[in-house]
Amino acid sequence: TEQTTEENTEATEESTEAPEVKPDAIKLTKPASFKTTAIKDGIKLSWKKVSKAQQYEVYRKKKGADSYKLIETTKKCAYKDETAKYGVTYAYKVRAIAVSEGETYKSKYTEVKKCCTYRIDPSKPMVALTFDDGPSIYTPGILDALEENQCRATFFEVGNRVEQYEDTVLRIDEMGCEIGNHSYDHANLGNASASKIRKEISSTDAKIKKVIGKKPVLMRPPYGSIGTTLRQNVGKPMIMWSIDTLDWKSRNADKVYQNVMNNVSDGDIILMHDLYSSSREAAKCIIPELKKKGYQLVTVSELAEY
Ligand code: ZN
Repeated sequence: TEQTTEENTEATEESTEAPEVKPDAIKLTKPASFKTTAIKDGIKLSWKKVSKAQQYEVYRKKKGADSYKLIETTKKCAYKDETAKYGVTYAYKVRAIAVSEGETYKSKYTEVKKCCTYRIDPSKPMVALTFDDGPSIYTPGILDALEENQCRATFFEVGNRVEQYEDTVLRIDEMGCEIGNHSYDHANLGNASASKIRKEISSTDAKIKKVIGKKPVLMRPPYGSIGTTLRQNVGKPMIMWSIDTLDWKSRNADKVYQNVMNNVSDGDIILMHDLYSSSREAAKCIIPELKKKGYQLVTVSELAEY
């Protein structure tokens, strides 16, 4: 009886105070922290819960398509797109929905996030191309070649170059390539102090995180120079290489190409630099040729995983 009384009171109050006013419009903020991640069998999306939202709409646009399509309506704050084709870049956006008294309320869309997923066959040979010292004006040409061949590579970037090439850095990530830490100003860290090392690593991590929303997992020491203090303070696996193309020395695309094709075998990590036009030209030939020989071009983290 007590409950009934309360309800009656409420109803009475409502009708006496504002008899003709419609219910308040539900204001929905756009979902925060929207993220896309390539996983083994698709693309994973996640976002933060929006207050008063009842469900979320997920929209997708294939690269080159004109418009977004609604691909899912869900009550969860995550979605796994298992229909994403391998090697194709998709753009995603999400909005929150609430329905009240026959009215539908929609939030603004999240910012657009692009992502691309790949299938790796563990039984087939794989190699990891790595490009150090960039990004630079030569990086996009390498990315074009990777994209055309549905391949990936790892880019060990110098922190103080990131801001100037933000679009390139973002594209590297959206293509499913990996970004590693190569210090802030290409310092030789082999004999550096702990505080210097930590500063070089964390400032580069911060620059990269600002653009792609996550910190690099891997580090490559400049000059391949490693010492005990670096080992103790780097906080990431340090990645060396098994084929040194010496591209910085020869500046000769054909020599770099021969060096790779004459020496490559399953599991190699190939060292190049996206800082020279000759390296870009070499990459344009190496990428399709390695693919033709049956190599899967994967990131260093993927190579390590498999
Ligand atoms: Zn370097």
